[in-house]
Amino acid sequence: MSPVLFVVIPCYNEEAVLPETRKRLADKLDRMTKGGVISPDSRVLMVDDGSRDKTWQLIEDFYQQDKRFGGIKLAHNRGHQHALLAGLMTANGHCDCAISMDADLQDDIEVMDQFIQKYQEGCEVVYGVRKKRTTDTAFKRNTAQAFYKFMNKMGAKVVYNHADYRLLGSRALEALSEYREVNLFLRGIVPDIGYKTAVVYYDRAERFAGESKYPLSKMIGLAVDGITSFSIRPLETIVKAGALISFLCILALIASLILAICHVGFSGWMALVASIWLIGGIVMTSVGIVGIYVGKAYGESKHRPRWHIEEQLLDTGEEKNS
Ligand code: UDP
Ligand code: MG
Repeated sequence: MSPVLFVVIPCYNEEAVLPETRKRLADKLDRMTKGGVISPDSRVLMVDDGSRDKTWQLIEDFYQQDKRFGGIKLAHNRGHQHALLAGLMTANGHCDCAISMDADLQDDIEVMDQFIQKYQEGCEVVYGVRKKRTTDTAFKRNTAQAFYKFMNKMGAKVVYNHADYRLLGSRALEALSEYREVNLFLRGIVPDIGYKTAVVYYDRAERFAGESKYPLSKMIGLAVDGITSFSIRPLETIVKAGALISFLCILALIASLILAICHVGFSGWMALVASIWLIGGIVMTSVGIVGIYVGKAYGESKHRPRWHIEEQLLDTGEEKNS
């Protein structure tokens, strides 16, 4: 039996690229359905993440013209990770597997067959991993690569060069629905789910149209979310640094005591001021890091809803089948 596939696409101000995305996906769905790779009940689910342009109107048009294209409209902009999860949770229960991808056609949709093949071989999670990043600007490439390395150093295990182009089977989707965190970092959560996984390599293209919705500030926000949601290593580092500084201070104290006993003068108010400022800086940074964790815990403890769906257009085909 060919599986029912949902392709979930978060979209934020993507009017420039969506018509082309739809065209290519419609063609891809046709070919995969004809080839018996996926069921005719497969769908594309676009998530409008509170866009201010014509994104939602376009999604409505797509739905009117072709019921394989559905959409949900979030009540306001919640960010890529939440939009993606909202889409996946809407798909959950209607499909056998879901592939998440960006709207900008950077992810090669031709490897979807390989995703499905791995799924048919029993994999619940299939990661799309970029072969090389030559299409990204040098800045984007370097910051992104530093991001993966830093994340792993900080103890948040992420798959290298994998963004959010991946397939999740229905069991993985069900497992994902049990993760209720507000500080969402899907690239860390998915490896945490377990099950049989596989990797599919692909070449990442350039953004087809429009501009990146992920400026450096959002990247840093994502990195902070990733680290603080998956690791307490920064807190451990503070403890280690504190212990090291205390140890050095004890040594300095002993040294100055010896110098005083031996009547060797030790002048240097500059050194004194500098060291006080240094310690002050370290203490403030450390308190700040602890504060970030407290803030995150505060956010989680409120258990607020993570998104609201304003409108939903989805023809699951289940009514006519039942
Ligand atoms: N996106 C979103 N909400 C946001 C920012 C981005 O849904 O607040 C979507 C965006 O429309 C795109 C995907 O997330 O489909 C990835 O964004 P983008 O391609 O701009 O990031 P980049 O590839 O430059 O890292
Ligand atoms: Mg992109």
